[in-house]
Amino acid sequence: MPFPATLDKKPKVIFFTDFDGTITLKDTNDYITDNHGFGVEQRRAGNKLILDGTDSFRDGFQKMINSWQVSLTEMISILEQNIKLDPHFRNFVLWAKEHDVPIVVLSSGMVPVISALLKKLLGEDLMKDIEIIANETQLVAPDNSLDKKGGWNIKFHDESAFGHDKSLTIRPYANAIAEMPNENDRPTLLYAGDGVSDLSAARETDLLFAKAGHDLIVYCEREGIPFTTFEDWDSILEETKKIWSGEKTVRKLAEEGLKRHRTNSSSRPLPTSGTFNRKTSLSQEQRPVIQE
Ligand SMILES: [Mg+2]
Repeated sequence: MPFPATLDKKPKVIFFTDFDGTITLKDTNDYITDNHGFGVEQRRAGNKLILDGTDSFRDGFQKMINSWQVSLTEMISILEQNIKLDPHFRNFVLWAKEHDVPIVVLSSGMVPVISALLKKLLGEDLMKDIEIIANETQLVAPDNSLDKKGGWNIKFHDESAFGHDKSLTIRPYANAIAEMPNENDRPTLLYAGDGVSDLSAARETDLLFAKAGHDLIVYCEREGIPFTTFEDWDSILEETKKIWSGEKTVRKLAEEGLKRHRTNSSSRPLPTSGTFNRKTSLSQEQRPVIQE
């Protein structure tokens, strides 16, 4: 159900989430690049250029896609055989359905890939309520076919340096909610993510679930963005239930998350300062370098 209809049922919580590496255990685009494209070493080298601001996420991702030796149809079938969802995601979806919590997938991947995987791994019945906002695909001449290697390409969601600027979807929600006259009607906006593609969403919600052991956490801590860590969707579900029932506030969970993160990673040095390259939605101030 797209915005603003999502707000009609007066949900207490709206849950936005990344797809690759957050709902899935492995990143689908990395998997194809490593096994059917220019390989893991070149991908890592490209990733460093994105992280230090030399290359944009959009251009780095396009280079990965240009190296893929498969049609979209083949890609989907390879992923269906090799990618698994977080084993607890299904339970989260069931709980969300029962409690009128909309789930919106915001991804830097492509809609047909995500929807095929959710359909296969979650089932059509459960996936049909999940809104997917991501890049699309387009046909390329002369082959003009998703069944042929050179017959298709990605069609980016917007003009941003991310290809898909996730804040563009979340912000209208935040604005509409801010205008709700009754404070008790205002839903809490949550987001779950793990990586660089989530930086465009990180500032937009009330609380961010950042995957433990991944560097989105370092960015959030340095930038003062409220976050809590998660291991899997079981821990996300437990904390979301507390927010939904009013047992805990997002502020309390963010404080606990920060404390837990600091206890677990006290020996880990923070990266040195640098710049992160982004064209839209966030200011051009100095950004930390985020190590892979
Ligand atoms: Mg991800």
